[in-house]
Amino acid sequence: MSDERARYFDNAATTPLDPRVLEAMLPALRDDWGNAHSIHACGLRAMAAVEQAREAVAELVGAEDPSQIVFTSGATEANNWVLHSFEHGLISPFEHSSVLEPAQSLGYTVLANDGFTLHPPDQPAPLISVMKVDNETGAIFEPEQVRPWAKALHTDATQALGKIAFDVSLYDFASMSSHKFYGPKGIGALYIQGDAPIQPYMLGGEQETGRRAGTLNVPAIIGMGEAARLAQDEIEVDQGKANRLRPLVLSALEDVPDWRINGHETCSPFILSISFLGVEGESLVIDLDRSGFAISSGAACSSRSTEPSHVLTALGLETQWLRGTVRLSFGRFNTEEAAEELGRALTTSVTRLRNVR
Ligand code: PMP
Repeated sequence: MSDERARYFDNAATTPLDPRVLEAMLPALRDDWGNAHSIHACGLRAMAAVEQAREAVAELVGAEDPSQIVFTSGATEANNWVLHSFEHGLISPFEHSSVLEPAQSLGYTVLANDGFTLHPPDQPAPLISVMKVDNETGAIFEPEQVRPWAKALHTDATQALGKIAFDVSLYDFASMSSHKFYGPKGIGALYIQGDAPIQPYMLGGEQETGRRAGTLNVPAIIGMGEAARLAQDEIEVDQGKANRLRPLVLSALEDVPDWRINGHETCSPFILSISFLGVEGESLVIDLDRSGFAISSGAACSSRSTEPSHVLTALGLETQWLRGTVRLSFGRFNTEEAAEELGRALTTSVTRLRNVR
């Protein structure tokens, strides 16, 4: 493969499947195709593989018991499940659309903020949902501040898991998604702390001890388990790489005037949001694509929307900066060489696009 993955700097949208994950999934696609709930040998083999994967995911998040992990179709489903289980709640203004949209339809309260600092609510609520790592800016939110504001605490840990230290014991619920840490798409999980109050959301069969109906996607679950194992073993190596790549890109921008980082003192090293004055973020994305680099102008889930980012708007970023924002997100398969080239390509594109205005 010519390594497109080296120049793919959109790892917050999705990560490439790790070849070791693919290898782990192949037997279940080819030979062990049983329904994990069948009681014959073929089904039992599938169920044994599912339970091994559950253990690996539980270990990665630091769950006390693998039974606290319920597989879902991804973080979107896990987020919807938690929010729909409470009549009212609080969310931060920075949440991903898969929290924001259900919260709005259910009449949840969006907390006021000052920069990344959240203001306490007027009244405590049954649930509060605050993401661990913001997918647009990489800002990290700690649970301690918001914990007293509600009976139950949920976090969308999608951009945190396998990337930064994460201690699930501080939460009642945590959502996660395999394709953000080199596993397959369409599989994720919800962590449910022992006695946290939650009803099933998908009704039907008795799978997942009656908590989530639907035939288990065994190959994808195996892939998520293998990806979790690899993430746990390699988290420091992956972090080290992100910490090296970030300054390589930034130092190439030294001679470019009028740009800023939309960050926070505690930020994930994997996400870098930069705004350039006098350039459209979308034009930069397209221009860099022509040079062989994949970056994004915001969250992939809303990249076709013409609305400005709700996250950057909540941070009070003025329109002139908002429009020129791009997100670079680093991953396991990027190289130092590609990061340096990306910095130079960004410099060239920003200069050219400013000149054509
Ligand atoms: N939450 C966050 C913070 C995300 O970045 C994403 C993926 N863009 C999701 C939720 C949705 O995850 P999934 O693709 O598994 O539904």
